[in-house]
Amino acid sequence: MAVSIYESYPPQISPEQEAYLVQTIKNWCIQHGLTVRPNFLSDEVNRNHVLATNAPVTLFPSPFPQACFDQAKDLQQVYNELYAAIASDEAWLEEIMRELIEVDDFLANLWKIHLAVKEEGYVQDISLGMFRSDYMLNSPEDSSTPSLKQVEFNTISSSFGGLSLLVARMHTELATFPSGNSIAYPPHALFDNTKDKPFITSGHPPPNTSVPTLATSLFAGHLAYGPSKTSHPLCILFLVQDNERNIFDQLALSTHLQTELGVPSFRLPVSRILTDTQIPSKESHPSRPLLYMPPSSPSTIFEVSVVYFRALYAPTEYDTPTSWAARHHLERSSAIKCPSILLHLSGSKKIQQVLTSKPPGPDHLSRFLPNASSSTIESLRSTFAPQYSLSPGSEGLSIALSAKSQNHVLKPQREGGGNNIYRDKITPFLKSIPDREYSQYILMELINPPEAAKNTVLRSDGEVVRGNVISELGIFGTCLWKNNQGSSKPEILHNTEGGYLMRTKGKESDEGGVAAGFSSLDSLILYEEANP
Ligand code: ADP
Ligand code: MG
Repeated sequence: MAVSIYESYPPQISPEQEAYLVQTIKNWCIQHGLTVRPNFLSDEVNRNHVLATNAPVTLFPSPFPQACFDQAKDLQQVYNELYAAIASDEAWLEEIMRELIEVDDFLANLWKIHLAVKEEGYVQDISLGMFRSDYMLNSPEDSSTPSLKQVEFNTISSSFGGLSLLVARMHTELATFPSGNSIAYPPHALFDNTKDKPFITSGHPPPNTSVPTLATSLFAGHLAYGPSKTSHPLCILFLVQDNERNIFDQLALSTHLQTELGVPSFRLPVSRILTDTQIPSKESHPSRPLLYMPPSSPSTIFEVSVVYFRALYAPTEYDTPTSWAARHHLERSSAIKCPSILLHLSGSKKIQQVLTSKPPGPDHLSRFLPNASSSTIESLRSTFAPQYSLSPGSEGLSIALSAKSQNHVLKPQREGGGNNIYRDKITPFLKSIPDREYSQYILMELINPPEAAKNTVLRSDGEVVRGNVISELGIFGTCLWKNNQGSSKPEILHNTEGGYLMRTKGKESDEGGVAAGFSSLDSLILYEEANP
């Protein structure tokens, strides 16, 4: 039973042992690039912004049931295919987006760009998705066996693959140091790889392949782009926020691309899209290649095979008069977009709510996944928590306006953390806005993670925080596909699962984002229930 694990986990350590472990982890993080730019220092202290610090990390990996981990991994390629199919079915998406577009300017602007490019004619029929499916364990009091429930599916800027691999490596080193070594974890059943009862465990976190998985999908996109349409060499662009703090996570992918796969890549800040890239005239190049002029050497021109978005997922990022023009410019180019606008929109919370419908209602899963077995569809469906729209007279609206809202979260169509409304704030919030805006939100039942989970976190400012925690597992997956003329079914070219992100936050925190400051990076240690 999950609870019994936490009775003795994480292992007890003395204040001296903890101080030593913290120091070891601080040094390990800096030495290996498990780092972020700080946000807690004044410009006077951090003159010229030269400083970096450890990413927020847990001292110990968090236990996670093997069966739930296996289920999440087994479902990832199915999820990849599902979202490729959704993004390929424009008519279905439009039907769902229609009511949102009426009340949400951000989505309306994205949709407008899609329509404008469609009118002009898309010149790229291949799309790339770098996904992360996020889960929590659900263990309501009446059930001793936790089950896997999806929190959300990310189709844009799915982050932390670069750093999560390092956390797994660090925890593995600490768990496998010869015992007696002063920086090893103290002995514990979960770190004992010779023991098979009561827990079957490898004694350390499973290997995390997030970096090669993600970088290889960019490489697959790069190859699928084909030869240069101009005389210029090809490159991949990482589209990034101007003041990105999570830069080392991104550099892990670009470094892998460069050193292991031999592909040049560049970081393009959002504010420089229209200055550093260009689409040549229609007359000279009707196929609309995207050309990149590195500011350090503008005469060395590259043609862009893939644009990987680590930015432009939130309305606040479109804060200059040219931001929308810049997004349009990228969308109409022949570079493969990761994601295209249709794929970006496919990741809306609204889509995730609509997908939970099942017979006698519309069975979208079976329709989008015609080749999946019924047991696969059932396994996928079992990861959905109940979700509702707030349409007039609906069950969702009556829950949201009643005491039952205590057990729910209200989500707008936004990404990046900090946007949700929880429990007793839901009803007053809805009463404070016009009814016509309700369609912007979906209502989701709260997932109940194990109560007893504990861990200790080393924050980026060096503070050590101990206590009850909630963990969220993300599984990375990638998909490259082609949309053939006249078909709304994707032709899948590359579909992979690989690597995971474990994030752990204090139990009292509702939100879960690491970059948003709520959470820390973790890894996991798998256990199985002992046979009775
Ligand atoms: P975002 O796109 O902002 O990341 P999420 O749907 O992931 O939106 O919600 C943010 C955080 O809120 C999650 O990381 C999780 O910690 C918490 N959360 C979201 N949905 C639920 C839920 N159904 N039950 C419990 N916690 C949730
Ligand atoms: Mg999230």
